[in-house]
Amino acid sequence: MEVAVVTVGDEILAGDTVNTNAAWLGARLTERGVDVERVTVVPDRVADVARVVNEYHAEYDAVIVTGGLGPTHDDVTMEGVAAAFGRDLAENDAVHRHLTGEGGYAASDLADGTTEIPEGARPLHNEAGVAPGCVVGTVYVLPGVPDEMKSMFGAVADEFVGDPDHVVVVEADEPESALLDRIEGVRERFDVTVGSYPGETVSLKLAGTDAGEVEAAADWLRERVDAPG
Ligand code: ATP
Ligand code: MG
Repeated sequence: MEVAVVTVGDEILAGDTVNTNAAWLGARLTERGVDVERVTVVPDRVADVARVVNEYHAEYDAVIVTGGLGPTHDDVTMEGVAAAFGRDLAENDAVHRHLTGEGGYAASDLADGTTEIPEGARPLHNEAGVAPGCVVGTVYVLPGVPDEMKSMFGAVADEFVGDPDHVVVVEADEPESALLDRIEGVRERFDVTVGSYPGETVSLKLAGTDAGEVEAAADWLRERVDAPG
């Protein structure tokens, strides 16, 4: 399964907010065996949200959008997602019932627009906050507040399926440029992907769906690189 992540917010583009939502979603999806193919940040602008959601909905098996929910003037994500599907926003009865029932809010306390999601969308209740999320087609709309996003993702996580990779990291205490022959060697001999991440030592990350193959590749490398310490 291939997924794109879209995070919405001027504050992320400006560097005021670090995009931890994208990192967290990337890790959760990858451990489920889902391929994250895109992470895109867009401003709080209806047309930009609509354009990228429309494109990614056509291209990937699912799209996760976070941020810009809620009723303030800069929260335009629902409008953008609705526009991508050529739909209007509409009051959702299930959302209204949830917020005024379990949620414990008086109807008069809910700001205008709080219970609106795109017409025909499946609502996702916000167990950690107010603004509802939703699913339209294969587009999942989640809040931006990290705790709210995480709990709502938990409710739909099982809809994201794939073949999880087996991963082994081999540390090498050599300059990355000196390792090129061994990296080439392991790629030629084994059906694994190899990532090379230089830091104090070089982390060589081996991944593949066949655990035996990945372990064999790791053994082959360990015998041929200088181990740290
Ligand atoms: P609310 O319903 O509270 O308005 P929201 O879904 O509209 O939530 P935003 O208004 O976009 O979310 O963001 C609320 C807060 O969540 C931001 O101030 C920021 O601290 C945090 N946030 C938003 N997007 C991200 C992100 N991609 N990574 C980390 N934090 C984020
Ligand atoms: Mg907001």
